[in-house]
Amino acid sequence: MKKLLIANWKMNLGSEQGAKLALKFSKLLVKNKNKDYVILPSLQSILFIKQKINDSAINFGAQDCSQFPVGAYTGDVSAAMIKEIGCKYVLLGHSERRLIHSENKKILKEKIANALFNKLKIIYCVGEKLIDYKKSNTKKVIKSQISNLFSEKINFNNIIIAYEPVWAIGTKKTPSVTEINNIHEYIKSLFLKIYKIKNICVLYGGSVNLNNSKEIFSARYVDGGLIGGASLKAGEFKKIYDNLN
Ligand code: PEP
Repeated sequence: MKKLLIANWKMNLGSEQGAKLALKFSKLLVKNKNKDYVILPSLQSILFIKQKINDSAINFGAQDCSQFPVGAYTGDVSAAMIKEIGCKYVLLGHSERRLIHSENKKILKEKIANALFNKLKIIYCVGEKLIDYKKSNTKKVIKSQISNLFSEKINFNNIIIAYEPVWAIGTKKTPSVTEINNIHEYIKSLFLKIYKIKNICVLYGGSVNLNNSKEIFSARYVDGGLIGGASLKAGEFKKIYDNLN
């Protein structure tokens, strides 16, 4: 399976700043048949960035999409619109959206259906809160986030799972590599059991940086990473990408 690194810029960079960073990525990061990367800029900047960098090999994605296909939903952006501006990917179920925007499973199922209908690849985030981690409830939480979510008829090549413990996001804290590997193995086993899918792609996210990335990526069941803060610095993101083997 191709290893993947996702740069989640969140609501940090405007068009000019985003284009500058994407240009650095395009110059510094060497793609090969074994690994690739995707950038998730703020949505309004994507067409501008694409025009500025003129590098068709860079994969773009959106950080979210509407649960609705079209209509009177002020402020929403549909999966079709995201596809139209040249995105290949969409991130769904990030904990910031689950917590701040109260996204629940029903909403996420609708988003997934719209994204797949528009031929977008989905990066679907799962992960436990600190209280669940402390109570050893991680597997239980993840099982509830994954079961009864996808139709068995879909093409699972379009689904990527990102395991992101909520307490590890932006905190400089991470589970141990053994814990990360165990949860990744568990997620893969869940997909086999529930959806009869072998070897779903599972990325790790949450405080990955240039110091811990090599060890995390060396874990057997880790297929890449979802990077927030460290993806805003080209030099650091390049080093993390170089550690992906
Ligand atoms: C994220 O928000 O998806 C994330 C992984 O953030 P950070 O790398 O900053 O912890």
